Amino acid sequence: MGGVGSGRHLRWDKKDVTEDYHSIDIRIWHRKKLLMPNNSFSWQWTRNGEVTSSIGVKVEVNKVYLNYRKRTHGEDWTDKNYPVYITWTSCNYGNKRPWFFCPAQNCGRRVAILYSGNIYACRHCYRLAYGCQRESFPFRASRQADKIRDKLGWEPGCLNGCGPKPKGMHKKTFKRLFNRHNLLVTQGMAWFGDRFNMLGESYEDWL
Ligand SMILES: [Zn+2]
Repeated sequence: MGGVGSGRHLRWDKKDVTEDYHSIDIRIWHRKKLLMPNNSFSWQWTRNGEVTSSIGVKVEVNKVYLNYRKRTHGEDWTDKNYPVYITWTSCNYGNKRPWFFCPAQNCGRRVAILYSGNIYACRHCYRLAYGCQRESFPFRASRQADKIRDKLGWEPGCLNGCGPKPKGMHKKTFKRLFNRHNLLVTQGMAWFGDRFNMLGESYEDWL
């Protein structure tokens, strides 16, 4: 993961964040009985009661069409409309559960959740494409942590670990900066864990 410790090469634009990063979970659509062929629905994200984003979904047999407008880095809005194939597997008691096939080129993995980016794709794809992503919180945390590291004379990048107290710095000041630094790093890491559902999954699951 080239993340929290090395945010420098990543572009970051606050405006894109609300537009760009969402996930869709096919299990929720199934639970809400939205996956009936010929059904169309709008899937929305809200913040403080306001709709911040939405996509249109049209269901066909074994695929859904995702339809939405997207803007990246201040470019013009572009219309997106593409199919994501789905499949069903049997589980207990004769029930079936649906899966997306990741629509990214050369992927096609069977997954429950797709993450938005240039297109909706699986976390494996975004892990590979990490360097192209712009994320809000963890990179802000990373930059703040680097500022503290600079004050402490530590090498930038929290993955480099903690260094010693600089000569002449008051113990109390050092403790405050040290704790603040570690909090930022911990929060940034936790954010990654939540965002990509990485915690509690085995390494093999990533392959
Ligand atoms: Zn994929």
